[in-house]
Amino acid sequence: MIYDVVVIGAGAAGLMCAAQAGYAGKRVLVLDHANKAGKKILMSGGGRCNFTNLGTTPQHFYSSNPYFCISALKRYRPEHFVELVERHGVEHVEKTPGQLFCATSAKEIVRTLLTECEWAGAEIKLSTQITRVEQQGNAMRLSTSIGKIDAGVVVVASGGLSIPSMGATGFGYDIARQFGLEVFDTRPGLVPFTLSDTWKARAASLSGVSVPVVASAGSRRFVDPMLFTHRGLSGPAMLQVSSVWQPGESLTVDLLPGEDVAESLREARQATPKRQLSTWLTERFPKRLAQALLEWYPDHDPARPLAQYANQALDEWAGRLNAWQLKPAGTEGWRTAEVTMGGVNTDALSSKTFEVKGLPQLRFIGEVVDVTGELGGYNFQWAWASGVACGQSC
Ligand code: FAD
Repeated sequence: MIYDVVVIGAGAAGLMCAAQAGYAGKRVLVLDHANKAGKKILMSGGGRCNFTNLGTTPQHFYSSNPYFCISALKRYRPEHFVELVERHGVEHVEKTPGQLFCATSAKEIVRTLLTECEWAGAEIKLSTQITRVEQQGNAMRLSTSIGKIDAGVVVVASGGLSIPSMGATGFGYDIARQFGLEVFDTRPGLVPFTLSDTWKARAASLSGVSVPVVASAGSRRFVDPMLFTHRGLSGPAMLQVSSVWQPGESLTVDLLPGEDVAESLREARQATPKRQLSTWLTERFPKRLAQALLEWYPDHDPARPLAQYANQALDEWAGRLNAWQLKPAGTEGWRTAEVTMGGVNTDALSSKTFEVKGLPQLRFIGEVVDVTGELGGYNFQWAWASGVACGQSC
């Protein structure tokens, strides 16, 4: 079998790239070992796929080379993908400002991509194992479970390591290393935190409670909701901060963003000296959390009025609420991570075509590359943009 372009991975980036290369007149084949295309798209955004973010800028991405993503993102913008899905009749909603989701189901996005591939004449073969990729003069040869395939260009769009049960593998990194490319260490990103025994039990007792917070690690801060779970902490704020968190590091969580607790408590003591701290907390937090806070810090006597709190005691509460220090035990890891941090070093790739410098027959796109977005639709926008840039230039 001979093709102009063989794409490894029928995910977001691979399908987008295949359609573009097909429209450019190339004979295109997409191979995937999974039995279904776009499995991650189907499970994304709680089954509704947050397929882009209207506010996408290069600053929403992590990479050892922050400039690499600029060119592709500039050429294929969120409006382009919105135009595509609207042309395919996909209804969408803006849940949080800028974050676009399917109104009905993520299946609509997979349907759109498969239709585009069909219209562009790109073939897709699922349940296909690829055992070897090698250079043959100016072309590439793949050994697969359906036989040998020759390709003018091989595009690696095999994604990252998150959710192995959905077909994620390190195959793309292996190919990169085989051809002498550097692969930066990978680690799970956008992933819930696990806590040590005491805090795990505390979080579990509050499972389902969500509060707006500011979560910080190092110099990065994220203003979003935090969710207590049976295993630890999740919700957008925790997922976001997990991407910048280093194992062993503490997190700082402001449980009352925008309120100077030390000042508020002093004012309350002055204005309503007979009021109890529990009342003050219940006015600000869900009842279960307010109650739990009092139990976590047993220096508190529930019957004591605010008037009997010295400045130092109020400051201690201000520290607990405005700058809660928390040392996660770890994260839930690849099992639930939404993305992979790290990956193929972009220095070896062209930011225009995604080809390996010095080996234009081999290209890497999407999540396998060392470009990872924040939470909110940026990761798919990167998959579309890198897929289009590569596909159009094949
Ligand atoms: P993928 O979409 O992962 O596709 C890779 C493909 O390669 C897969 O089909 C896989 O089967 C195939 N493959 C892997 N190894 C091999 C092999 N050895 N041989 C053959 N084929 C192989 N991002 C957002 O922007 N918005 C969201 O709402 C969102 N929600 C998410 C929710 C979850 C639970 C998860 C896990 C991720 C979410 N993401 C979201 C991230 C987003 O899904 C990824 O960034 C995106 O899918 C990456 O696209 P990709 O094409 O590079 O890789």
